[in-house]
Amino acid sequence: MLQRDDHAIKGAKNQSLIRAVNEHVEAVVREAANPEFLCECANVDCVETLELSIMEYESIRSSPVRFPVKHGHVFPEFETVVEENERYAVVEKFGEAGEIARQEDPRRRRAAAGSDPGTADEAHT
Ligand SMILES: [Zn+2]
Repeated sequence: MLQRDDHAIKGAKNQSLIRAVNEHVEAVVREAANPEFLCECANVDCVETLELSIMEYESIRSSPVRFPVKHGHVFPEFETVVEENERYAVVEKFGEAGEIARQEDPRRRRAAAGSDPGTADEAHT
């Protein structure tokens, strides 16, 4: 039990880190049609890339607890697949892992001072 929680926390932190990297990728490649993003799965050693359009990435990023991952890079103990196509799957984190993902969201942190539309999410967990 303890180990699983540990993995959940580590995974969420790692995912949040990669998400921060992808934020930069997005800024740099905004013009490209299908830029490559890093897989945002909970495996700390994962170096896979995903092909997402900016629009697809943005729609996933509109939720602080959703991450694009490669197929099979899903950890059902702390996340569920909410969307899937032939290029990638979208996972939504729940429980403690979801809380961490929410706290670590770079966009949320930036918005913390002003109005925060992210709070609407709180209700549905
Ligand atoms: Zn992965």
